[in-house]
Amino acid sequence: MQGSTPKPHAVVIGSGFGGLAAAVRLGARGYRVTVLEKLDVPGGRAYVHRINGFTFDAGPTVITAPFLLEELWTLAGRRMSDDIDMRPVTPFYRIRFHDGAVFDYTGDAAAMRKEVERLAPGDVEGYERFIRTSEEIFKVGFEELAHVPFGSWWDMAKIVPDMMKLESYRSVYNLVAKHVKDDRLRQVMSFHPLLVGGNPFSTTSIYTLIAFLERKWGVHFPMGGTGALVKGLVRLIEGQGGEVRCNAEVKRILLAGRKARGVELASGETIAADVVVSNADSAWTYRHLVDENVRKRWTNERLEKQRYSMGLFVWYFGTKRKYENVAHHTICLGPRYEGLLDDIFQRHVLADDFSLYLHRPTATDPSLAPEGSDAFYVLSPVPNLSSGTNWEREAEPYRKRIERYLAETLMPGLEKEIVASRVTHPQEFQDRLLSFRGAAFGMEPVLTQSAFFRPHNESEDVERLYIVGAGTHPGAGLPGVLSSARVLDRVVPDAASLH
Ligand SMILES: Cc1cc2nc3c(=O)[nH]c(=O)nc-3n(C[C@H](O)[C@H](O)[C@H](O)COP(=O)(O)OP(=O)(O)OC[C@H]3O[C@@H](n4cnc5c(N)ncnc54)[C@H](O)[C@@H]3O)c2cc1C
Repeated sequence: MQGSTPKPHAVVIGSGFGGLAAAVRLGARGYRVTVLEKLDVPGGRAYVHRINGFTFDAGPTVITAPFLLEELWTLAGRRMSDDIDMRPVTPFYRIRFHDGAVFDYTGDAAAMRKEVERLAPGDVEGYERFIRTSEEIFKVGFEELAHVPFGSWWDMAKIVPDMMKLESYRSVYNLVAKHVKDDRLRQVMSFHPLLVGGNPFSTTSIYTLIAFLERKWGVHFPMGGTGALVKGLVRLIEGQGGEVRCNAEVKRILLAGRKARGVELASGETIAADVVVSNADSAWTYRHLVDENVRKRWTNERLEKQRYSMGLFVWYFGTKRKYENVAHHTICLGPRYEGLLDDIFQRHVLADDFSLYLHRPTATDPSLAPEGSDAFYVLSPVPNLSSGTNWEREAEPYRKRIERYLAETLMPGLEKEIVASRVTHPQEFQDRLLSFRGAAFGMEPVLTQSAFFRPHNESEDVERLYIVGAGTHPGAGLPGVLSSARVLDRVVPDAASLH
């Protein structure tokens, strides 16, 4: 409109769920928003691979706390149900133990009680105590703390009494083990940190809140796959007058003194901004995009010393037949639990054995594969690049081992059925997604790297720079990264104040 003051400009680096959510929120608060994405399409870890008629969502598949997404549609003046057909998935997970026994993990209290009774009759009471504990932790950890900025020591000091009361100094496994005795049930109740890149034996027990979060809101899957959510968010941004530019890698955050004033792209183009939000990996952002001279907190030395989450090996494959007996989400536990996790997180060695998560989205949405076929991905937690693994060499033998395992257990004849195939591994996480050490979930979610101790949502080192996504507070996973964008409402100035 002629004569009106132009809106302040917000540049968002990266189009993962955290970046897209931040863009919608800033758009709703009066900013003109430009999202700059290095890859050819938006989504980040939620990229979509299309191979031979199959649609493979690359990353998140277990959608929890859908109200966090709904909130974005509301902010943009729309209803999510007009764009997205979200379906509940049950069981949440079918867990298959090494001996072939299975446990159906659902959100139904009575069904869960029965499953626990079947697996470990002596642990029913302890299990129910654990769920009540998870609810108490959820009320503080998620409802009170997930969307607040931890910008100062005082913010941290205020929550210490609650953390002591909730025994946050214990690990997830340790808290579970306090309540249930059966070794298999302990695994069932403690694997959740792996969904956000943490080792159940060292991740703070705050993360046991996930058990209650899943029960409260369920596990969902959008028809068309997670890619449908990404598309929907991009449309919201465009509807607000914002722009998502792909093939636009940011090389540097431009500064005026200690204040962000824009970005420079790999092409040499510069873009001015009133605020810059980085959804790129937080360690990578500081290490490679912010001049070392202004970094007092996130020095190269500190970044090197941080602990980084595990890596992931993922094999996306399509079969020319259906495997109807395979549930939407299956977790295949291997012969070792603590030992394997030690190999991944402590010793950083690629073990011969593995535990897997197998995804069959066509169980809910057959349109993701050609008629009569199934789309899958199978994911194996592996050490990040600290292991020194040469993935160019190891990827194919590792894939073969997984293929053999699946053929011998859940998917007879698998080798002969494959008609689409692609793998990804920590080296690709580093080279393609610019993830520090190829970690799949940013910094590891241990207590000493959580809340105030994680890179802040409002940068400690650069004014008008904000961080969203897995590597900042509260952490990885869709509820985490969507909450990190929520924090921006508290720390980014109102657009009106920048005129
Ligand atoms: C295989 C896999 C399965 C998962 N499953 C689940 C699940 O079931 N449920 C769940 O809740 N979570 C899951 N997660 C975790 C969840 O996907 C992530 O925590 C979340 O998607 C990360 O979002 P983000 O906002 O941090 O951004 P990311 O998805 O990491 O995106 C960051 C974007 O920034 C771009 N970028 C980086 N540097 C630059 C630059 N310099 N210039 C321009 N662009 C740049 C990258 O290309 C990328 O697109 C999974 C993760 C993986 C990898």
